[in-house]
Amino acid sequence: MKMFINGSLVDRDEKIDVKNPANNETIDTVPEATREDVKNALEAANRAKKVLGDMSARKISRILYDVYEVVLKSQEEFSRIITLETGKPIKDSRDEMKRSVLTLQLAAEEAKRIYGETVPMDAGIGGRTALGFTMKIPLGVVAAITPFNYPVNLAVHKIAPALAAKNSVVFKPSKEAPLAALKLGEVLGHHLPDGAVNAVTGPGSVVGDELVTNPIVNKVSFTGSVETGNAIANRAGMKKLTLELGGNDPIIVLEDADLEKAAVSTARGAYLNAGQVCIGVKRIIVQKGVAEEFIDLLIKETRKLKMGDPMDPETDIGPLINEEAAINVARTVGNALENGAQILLGGKREGAFYTPTVLDMVDPGMDMVCHETFGPVAPIIRAETVDEAFSIANNTPYGLQAGVFTSSIENALKAARTIEAGGVMINKQPTFRTDNMPFGGFKMSGMGKEGVKYAVEDMTRTKLVVFG
Ligand code: NAD
Repeated sequence: MKMFINGSLVDRDEKIDVKNPANNETIDTVPEATREDVKNALEAANRAKKVLGDMSARKISRILYDVYEVVLKSQEEFSRIITLETGKPIKDSRDEMKRSVLTLQLAAEEAKRIYGETVPMDAGIGGRTALGFTMKIPLGVVAAITPFNYPVNLAVHKIAPALAAKNSVVFKPSKEAPLAALKLGEVLGHHLPDGAVNAVTGPGSVVGDELVTNPIVNKVSFTGSVETGNAIANRAGMKKLTLELGGNDPIIVLEDADLEKAAVSTARGAYLNAGQVCIGVKRIIVQKGVAEEFIDLLIKETRKLKMGDPMDPETDIGPLINEEAAINVARTVGNALENGAQILLGGKREGAFYTPTVLDMVDPGMDMVCHETFGPVAPIIRAETVDEAFSIANNTPYGLQAGVFTSSIENALKAARTIEAGGVMINKQPTFRTDNMPFGGFKMSGMGKEGVKYAVEDMTRTKLVVFG
């Protein structure tokens, strides 16, 4: 596929192979952009921001609805591309596309709901006769940078709110999974003025870095790992930033929990997309009194999963994004086993595939649960009391979401108050996101919120107008 810059498809002799992780075959190539290409895209976006800024809210909303209609009709084609380039099971790619379509629709609606407010100027000294109000105005040019694991929906979560607020966009998908996102960029580009949406491909160190450092850019909206997010924060200077970063989400199963429900939810959260989800269950903290019973139920749920060809609609678990990622997961599991963890199920690798794995007797200090393990692994940590469970949950530099299973309202409220995370789910896995809810982590898991309404707000700046 080609890049999309200033309304035209652009190619380069230097190419990046895009591989199907299920069989390591090259499915397509994308151009490796130069810094010059990125600068061209940014200059085009800089020209287009004026055209967008002059558009009515009704018009931009209409355009987003038109894009929504096209993507709605091509959902299946998009889903198949996602599965080919990421190895995501086709049923999960279809879910991603359903959400992407809805996200576009939410943005089309939100484009008509951007309000300023009147300011009670007379509450301050000297303001008695003044009339003040705020206007929400576009930022200008937004750089959107996304990871491989939800290549379309995470892109829509940035591009559609940016457009709804009348900003132009230069977008960089992950080099592992750029194809479906480029197709989306093309659809958007064909409905918008030249330069309003541009898509560039290439390595983060060149293409991403130019987007982060170029003075044309007013805001960087990034989703990806903590390491890259930190690097971006250090390079971006005074640009506005949204950082949606990695997680180490706990699921906490207390003694008064519905254990069956907890086990089903844990399996869903730990193994979805082969564990490559920012809000995946990465630590399972179980109160000792129910640990054995819960583990039996979790193993039962894990055994039900079918690993295999991601194009098969029956498949639950496909490969990881590449063999290197699977080798990393195997290494992390090996390290935990050497340090006293016990393997109850799984632990086998073949190419990029890694079988769903249940580990018991995991110590909260082990590498596997101190950092984000991006694979289908369910590490169980036993805790004595409710307080100890919550304390283990908080003892991490991450804070994206958390899930707590309990039948006690006191424990639920205590969890809501105590757990340091951007979202606390009661009797639900942390691996839960609807596209209109405020979403974003605490601590190292990021800054700023997405979720269409919140992202649109973040894509504007506030201007005060005062009549004396
Ligand atoms: P990554 O950080 O390696 O890459 C993300 C994007 O950043 C890619 O497009 C990459 O090319 C680009 N990039 C790399 N170096 C860059 C640089 N120096 N400057 C600018 N851009 C650069 O992440 P990944 O491996 O693709 O994705 C997995 C990570 O993303 C996990 O940590 C996961 O938890 C996180 N994630 C977070 C969320 C969230 O909403 N919080 C959602 C999905 C994934």
